Amino acid sequence: MKPFYIYNTLSRSVEEFKPIKPGEVSYYSCGPTVYLPQHLGNMRAYIFVDTLRRALEFNDYRVKHVMNITDVGHMTSDEDAGEDKIEKTAREQGRTPREIADYYIAQFKRDCGLLNIKLPKDSREDPLEKWPLCRATDHIEDMIALIKRIIAHDFAYQVPSGVYFDVEKWRGANRAGRLSRQSLDEQSVVQRLEHASDKRSPHDFVLWVLEPQHIMQRHNRAAAAISSASRKVLGQPQHIQQWDSPWGRGYPGWHIECSAMSMKYLGETIDIHSGGLDHVPIHHEDEIAQSESATGKPFVRYFVHNAFLTGLDGAKLSKSAGRFPLLDDLVNEGTNPLAFRLFCLGAKYRSSLTFSEDAVRAAAKSLEYFHEFARSLPGGVARAGGADGEWATPFRERFNEAINNDLNTPQALAVALELVAEAYRREDRRIWNALLAFDGVLGLGLEEIEQRAFLGEQFPPEVNALIHERKLVREQGNFKRADEIRARLEALNYIVKDTPEGSVYMRK
Ligand code: AMP
Ligand code: ZN
Repeated sequence: MKPFYIYNTLSRSVEEFKPIKPGEVSYYSCGPTVYLPQHLGNMRAYIFVDTLRRALEFNDYRVKHVMNITDVGHMTSDEDAGEDKIEKTAREQGRTPREIADYYIAQFKRDCGLLNIKLPKDSREDPLEKWPLCRATDHIEDMIALIKRIIAHDFAYQVPSGVYFDVEKWRGANRAGRLSRQSLDEQSVVQRLEHASDKRSPHDFVLWVLEPQHIMQRHNRAAAAISSASRKVLGQPQHIQQWDSPWGRGYPGWHIECSAMSMKYLGETIDIHSGGLDHVPIHHEDEIAQSESATGKPFVRYFVHNAFLTGLDGAKLSKSAGRFPLLDDLVNEGTNPLAFRLFCLGAKYRSSLTFSEDAVRAAAKSLEYFHEFARSLPGGVARAGGADGEWATPFRERFNEAINNDLNTPQALAVALELVAEAYRREDRRIWNALLAFDGVLGLGLEEIEQRAFLGEQFPPEVNALIHERKLVREQGNFKRADEIRARLEALNYIVKDTPEGSVYMRK
C-alpha cells in the first residue's frame, strides 16, 4: 500500500497518515446545522468529506465514519451570543424546532444523494448503527455525562446563567490555542463577553445553558433575575427545546455535542476529525478543550479542514449573510449536480474556490466527456469484464500518487481525463477497470451511466435499432449487411469497432 499523506492543521504540515489501528480509520466530520438549506459552500465541505472517505477506502482502509447533525445549541454567533439558530427559524416559520430540523435534514440528504455523497446511516432509521449520522438532540444524556466529567476534573463551573468551561485553567503549552495557534490573550472576546457577565473569564464558553424562566418556576427568583440579566436573554423568547440536567433545565452549548458523539461512537482518541476552516479558532478549539480535559487523552490525531467556496467578490458564501446559491438553483437550470462535484474536485480542498455558473458549466463539459465514454462501452469492453490494456497501468500509478498526496484532486482528475483521451486516441477502450477505480474516489457516477446505457438509453432509438440489427446480421454471418449498417452509422457520426469482446459503438 502506498503511504497516504494529509495536511494536519495541528502540525501545519502534510503528514504521512498512520491510523491507530492498522487498516482502520475512525473519522468524525462536523455536519450541518439544520435551520436553512445547505448552500453550495456547505456542499463543498461535504464533497470534501466524501472524497476523503473515498480516498481512504481507495487505500483499502475500513472507514468508520460518523457525522453529526446540529439541531440545538448553535447560536447565531459561533461564540455563544445571540439566539439558537433552529429556534429562531422555528419561531419565524411558526413550526416546532423538530419540524424545522426534519425538513432541512431531508433536504440535506437529498442534495447529498444528488452529489453522490455517501452519508453514514441515520441513527433514527437504524438505532443500532455503529457509526451513524446522529442528531445532537438524541444525545443529551451523553453530553450531560461528559459535562459531569469535565466538572469532576475541575475544568468547568456553574453560575446562574449556565455551566461554563473554565478556559483560564486550560492555559498552557499544548492547551488553549493549540489548533488555532492563537494565545488566549490574542483571541477576540467581544462576542463572548456580550453573552454572559457572570462568567469568570470572557474566554469561557458555555457547556449547558440554563433557562432563567425555568429557574423562576422553581421559585428561585433571585437566581433567575441574575441569570436573565447576566445572559442578556430577557428580550429573547424562551428556548423551546429544554432538558433536565443536574444543573437545572436548559440546553447544551454547541460544541459539546461533537465531543460527546465522537467519543461515544469512535472512542476517546480518534484518527481524523474534519470541518470547514471556520471551525479552527472556536468550534474545534473548544472541542479539544472539552474532550481532553475530561479524558486526559489526545482527542484527535489529524485535524483536516476544507477552505471556503466564495462568491465572485471573494467573500465566503454563508447562510447568515444571506448569500447562498443552492444546488436547486443549478438543477433548475438543467445542470447535472455532478458538474458541481467535478467543479469542486477541480480545486484542492485547501484552496479557496470561487463559485461562478460559467465555471460549473465548464465542469459540466468535462463531466459529459466522462459520461460519453461510459455510454460508449455497453455490449463491448465494460461488460466483457476483461483486463485493461497494459498501457493503462502508469495512469493508475499517477492517479494513486495524486490522491495520496494530500488529496490532489485536480491532478487526479487530469490523469483520469488523460486516460480517456488516450483510449480514444488508441481506439482501445480497455480502461474500464482503471476508470471505475478512479471513479470510486471521484464519484462521477460512471458505472450508473454505463448501466443505463446498457439498458438502452445511450443512443437515439434509430441508432439503437441499427446496432441491434447489426448484431443480429453478424451472428447470422451476413457481413455485407453488417458493413452497410456500419457505413450508415458512420454517416450518422458514430464510430464502429469490432473487437474480440464484441462490437463497440460511440459518438465521434
Ligand atoms: P453549518 O451548517 O453552518 O454548521 O456549516 C456546515 C459546514 O459547512 C461546516 O463544516 C462549515 O465549515 C462549512 N462551510 C460553511 N460555509 C462554507 C463555505 N462557504 N465554503 C466551504 N465550507 C463552508
Ligand atoms: Zn463539530
